[in-house]
Amino acid sequence: MIIREASFLSSNTQVAACPAPDRPEYAFIGRSNVGKSSLINMLTGRLGLAKTSSTPGKTQVINHFNINNEWYLVDLPGYGYAKVSKSSRADWGKMINAYLTKRENLTCVCVLLDSRHAPQAVDLEFMEKLGEAGVPFIMIFTKTDKQSTSQTKALLADYLTKMGETWDELPRHFVTSAETGLGRDEVLDFITEINR
Ligand code: GDP
Repeated sequence: MIIREASFLSSNTQVAACPAPDRPEYAFIGRSNVGKSSLINMLTGRLGLAKTSSTPGKTQVINHFNINNEWYLVDLPGYGYAKVSKSSRADWGKMINAYLTKRENLTCVCVLLDSRHAPQAVDLEFMEKLGEAGVPFIMIFTKTDKQSTSQTKALLADYLTKMGETWDELPRHFVTSAETGLGRDEVLDFITEINR
């Protein structure tokens, strides 16, 4: 896929206020600091398109981007901040739940996972929730340039074993680096394939 157009559209806290659901939508989410902004910027080839949202307590919003006037890329607020209050965690839960269950054009959730960290309960639980809600998702492993290929392979094997305990069919997964551009073509080809 050639990215001809990638522009910011809107930030919303209400699903009903999001752009008209008239095209496929891909939402990116993960723990804070997982590399979400960097990955979005790498995929779209637009440095600074997604801003880092890793300041705890910052307003949590659903950010829509227009890609090629063909699909929406959505930057969702991350989870797993250590310092977030109970009430903002509850607000996050409500908003994300509403988004995942009500956004009718949501095509696929891209769950970002740091390739250096062993499977974490918060990520596994989030993916279980997606499964229960019947939302299709893929796993995107980030920051693979920070370690050797064999370390990434070992981590992936760990993850897939762990996921195999819950899932009959394992979700598609992609190995990426925002630093080197690894995985860019694969993720964009996957989106092209689904949009066809
Ligand atoms: P976010 O909070 O999930 O949006 O994460 P950011 O995209 O802001 O990234 C968090 C930190 O990880 C920043 O210091 C990035 O420069 C760094 N980072 C993100 N992706 C990569 C990557 O693929 N490789 C390397 N080496 N660093 C990365």
